Amino acid sequence: MYLFMPTLVYSKKDCVKNHFREIALTGEKAMIVTGKHSSRKNGSLDDVSAVLNQENISYIIFDDIEENPSVETVMRARELAVSENVDFIIGIGGGSPLDAAKAIALMAANPEANEEVLYQSNALPYLPIICIPTTCGTGSEVTPYSILTLHKQKTKKSISHKIFPTLALLDTKYLKTANRSCIVNTSVDALAHLIESYLNTNSNSLNRIYSEQGLRMWAEFKDNLKNDTLSEKDYERMLHTSMVAGIAITHTGTSLPHGLSYAVTYELGVPHGKAVGMFLGGYVDNYKDKNEAGKVLELLGFSNAKEMRCYLNELLGKTELSPELLSANADSILANKGKLKNYPFKITKEELINMPN
Ligand code: NAP
Ligand code: ZN
Repeated sequence: MYLFMPTLVYSKKDCVKNHFREIALTGEKAMIVTGKHSSRKNGSLDDVSAVLNQENISYIIFDDIEENPSVETVMRARELAVSENVDFIIGIGGGSPLDAAKAIALMAANPEANEEVLYQSNALPYLPIICIPTTCGTGSEVTPYSILTLHKQKTKKSISHKIFPTLALLDTKYLKTANRSCIVNTSVDALAHLIESYLNTNSNSLNRIYSEQGLRMWAEFKDNLKNDTLSEKDYERMLHTSMVAGIAITHTGTSLPHGLSYAVTYELGVPHGKAVGMFLGGYVDNYKDKNEAGKVLELLGFSNAKEMRCYLNELLGKTELSPELLSANADSILANKGKLKNYPFKITKEELINMPN
């Protein structure tokens, strides 16, 4: 058993402004890594820029991170980071900019290395990273993972390096500009992290502290999420649940729903949380240890797996997957020892094909 969560986290209203000291102590020249629009709309980019200006820390902005960021984008940002001599990275946004920030921090600290090192497991240094999440799903602000799109392999894959952010600053106000589908999809991603961490080969009574508590927290906003009646308190719960779910998968990894989702996102452009959510009901329903699956349902306040499947279908809507995609996806999971090892039982191709809700 082990527990390791080295990221310093503050969650408070105006925490970017109020933690200017920690930001200023992280380095002398920053690269802000973000998406095209949302951080301008929700005020997070202005808040960070104001602190850096106030503290006389120079910075550059790389605002070209796409959803499901690619290795190519990371390499473009690395070139700029190296030529501008930046010594720390600030990721602002959903999981895409935060994941990209980690990979850029690694590549920038190893300016001679080519992109292949992203998927080699030798230990390498990386620049310090500050993460400011503006969605409520990935928990990337506390996880060591960075998932990149590999166009050459037509899929997405976690890089081989474990890169924890130094500092995470959580402020609910940045969530407020997110539309309903972004809130729904990212909350379901957090739910998937909790379930896949709890029902996982690597789960144990110590690391289940996080998944169990996260499942209880998710249950508290479940009805308001479905009925579109989220309160101020719910937004805070969602942001915190996402972070707790991130700590949970830090200790266990994810499992089959995540593995099955990557091709759905790559081939059909389905957002990450929605793609993962398509397999969640089936994962719990068919989980071979019925006691453990029952515990998950109980913590979430569902009376049985069918009720959970209906809830998810209503929340996410149905996406039809072709038999060809399902078959190819099942084959690729069966060939992926890394993902299979997190699932404690044997699984057949037919069971994988039948997993969608
Ligand atoms: P995302 O891809 O980061 O963002 C999705 C969309 O939401 C973008 O269009 C973005 O706009 C917009 N957006 C972000 N924050 C917003 C806000 N506050 N208001 C309005 N719009 C906002 O979405 P995500 O689901 O958070 O991240 C998904 C990625 O994270 C995937 O690549 C997934 O594989 C990865 N992931 C990582 C981990 C991990 O542990 N590291 C875990 C799970 C998933 P802009 O582009 O303009 O910013
Ligand atoms: Zn996820």
